[in-house]
Amino acid sequence: MTSPPQSLWTAEVLTLFPEMFPGPLGFSNLGRALEDGIWALRTTQIRDYADNKHRNVDDTPAGGGPGMVMRADIAARALDAVQARAPNQPMIYLSPRGRPFTQRRARELAAGPGVILLCGRFEGVDERLLQARPIEELSIGDFVLAGGELAAMVVIEAVVRLLPGVLGAAASVEEESFENGLLEYPHYTRPAIWEGRPIPAVLTSGNHRKIALWRRQMAEAVTRARRPDLWAKWARSKARRKRAHDN
Ligand code: SAH
Repeated sequence: MTSPPQSLWTAEVLTLFPEMFPGPLGFSNLGRALEDGIWALRTTQIRDYADNKHRNVDDTPAGGGPGMVMRADIAARALDAVQARAPNQPMIYLSPRGRPFTQRRARELAAGPGVILLCGRFEGVDERLLQARPIEELSIGDFVLAGGELAAMVVIEAVVRLLPGVLGAAASVEEESFENGLLEYPHYTRPAIWEGRPIPAVLTSGNHRKIALWRRQMAEAVTRARRPDLWAKWARSKARRKRAHDN
């Protein structure tokens, strides 16, 4: 495979199941952008770095207990090989024990050259790998998946849709959920009345100031009702902004 040019945002994925990729990432806007060379995807089979006869990458957990653990030496060889060709890309291990992945982290990653994503399987990787390499652990939520591949796809999709040219000029990502600390306001489209339910009158009023105000109020109401954690944070930052403005 030829190396993508330096400027291309590149996802390097280390996995035991490279056939899973691009999978869902090959469809719609992201898939088109992949074909058009707006971003690049490369997979590395971790098993190719196993040196034993049976190409095993896992072994039984020290101390006993169920399941298997991915070996640090084999995963490190794979990781080091990928890092050598993508030295500026942050290394991420998908893990339920990681820091929660957020829209903010997606924005930061979109501004960089790409990512190196290590997908775990079994009980996860030997802890010493995470100590010996500068690896950031990211979780996509408080639940346990069978492997890191879907989590890696979630991270890639959230980042790539932010890259210039992927969603097209018409799409606005600025007003979306989490971008300003609030969940998004509700959307409506034709028909004007559906099952007896009309579109809120303000949206068909043509008054853009009123529409913007209504949307802001709805965003606040839905955030307050559904996500008290986000609401508290947003209320604090609003108070801070107000103080800064008043001073
Ligand atoms: N024994 C581990 C879970 C292993 S699940 C624990 O209890 O913490 C197997 C692999 O799936 C992990 O190595 C990780 O790469 C991936 N994975 C599972 N849940 C995840 C999540 N919420 N976010 C990101 N990756 C996850």
